[in-house]
Amino acid sequence: MVLVFAETVKGGFKKAAFEAVTYGAKTAAVLGTDCAAVVLGEADNAGQLGEYGASKVYQLKSDHLANFDSQVYTAAIAGAADKIGASVVILSHSSTGKSLMGRLAARMKAGAVAAVNAVPTNDGSFKVRKPVFSGKAFATYEVSADKKVLSVMGNSIQPEATGAAVAVESLDVDVPAPRVRVKEVKRVEGVVPLPEAELVVSAGRGMKGPDNWGIIEELATVMGATTACSRPVADSDWRPHHEHVGQTGVAIRPNLYIAIGISGAIQHLAGVNSSKTIVVINKDPEAPFFKAADYGVVADLFDVVPRLTESLKKFKAS
Ligand SMILES: Cc1cc2nc3c(=O)[nH]c(=O)nc-3n(C[C@H](O)[C@H](O)[C@H](O)COP(=O)(O)OP(=O)(O)OC[C@H]3O[C@@H](n4cnc5c(N)ncnc54)[C@H](O)[C@@H]3O)c2cc1C
Repeated sequence: MVLVFAETVKGGFKKAAFEAVTYGAKTAAVLGTDCAAVVLGEADNAGQLGEYGASKVYQLKSDHLANFDSQVYTAAIAGAADKIGASVVILSHSSTGKSLMGRLAARMKAGAVAAVNAVPTNDGSFKVRKPVFSGKAFATYEVSADKKVLSVMGNSIQPEATGAAVAVESLDVDVPAPRVRVKEVKRVEGVVPLPEAELVVSAGRGMKGPDNWGIIEELATVMGATTACSRPVADSDWRPHHEHVGQTGVAIRPNLYIAIGISGAIQHLAGVNSSKTIVVINKDPEAPFFKAADYGVVADLFDVVPRLTESLKKFKAS
């Protein structure tokens, strides 16, 4: 049995949850078994995970699950896996999944591979692929442990709703009390979070200062995109830290990444070069980012960005 932990936010599923269940269902098919999903805490419509390939959906409800706590969630997921006899557990490669992975693998005595981006093969041995060296190469890992924990890289699989909703069942699993008390939760509201965004407009030090960000926000609003930035921009407090992408920031894989006034240093590229299409706007034709770009515009951003926004407005209106 394959068990997928489906992440929720404010009672709704994250896109990553549908990706993970789709991945889990495909993995189960490769292994000749079934895929179940587990939901921790409140969820509006947990049964819809059946549409993405879960033949069973289990929901654990407990006051102890009200806030994310990696020790409590690990115990709950490991308990659910044990109860249903799951030998493979699938997580999303999100901040939540990353903080669960090591604990869960240790508790289950499982082999773990983080950030996989392809469905495993099983020709006598269980092999799974992941990107390495900042996305420059792929490595195939063979997992010989009986139990396995995998985390699925965001946007590496399209959610496929080809099935039907299923009834939600409960499971008798011991959920321990958290040892950390949450006093306050602050959420970024109103925008698609960067790890889930399909369109990202990102800007760097070429913007000259925080007061110039209006043109970036306007472009992002017209496109329905999420904004991001390079590290020095966040370090200088021009933009909030949750927007910082790259090796030391958020790693993203949107369908479209527009990089404006960003040089394309290796540490920046490490977090964005798996984007499906990269557009670079930079006035320096020698900027390293152009080597990673699908489309490049050599121009002054203060000239080209407002014109791009106006063109998009006209295009949308027509
Ligand atoms: C250990 C380590 C980790 C790091 N992690 C990260 C990370 O996670 N993310 C990250 O982003 N960086 C990271 N960095 C920093 C990284 O090395 C670069 O310094 C940084 O990415 C540069 O940011 P930038 O491109 O915004 O600025 P710059 O390098 O200053 O580039 C600005 C660009 O804007 C262009 N420009 C200027 N004016 C205009 C204009 N009017 N119109 C058009 N273009 C213009 C310039 O030609 C230039 O290419 C890390 C560094 C280290 C050492």
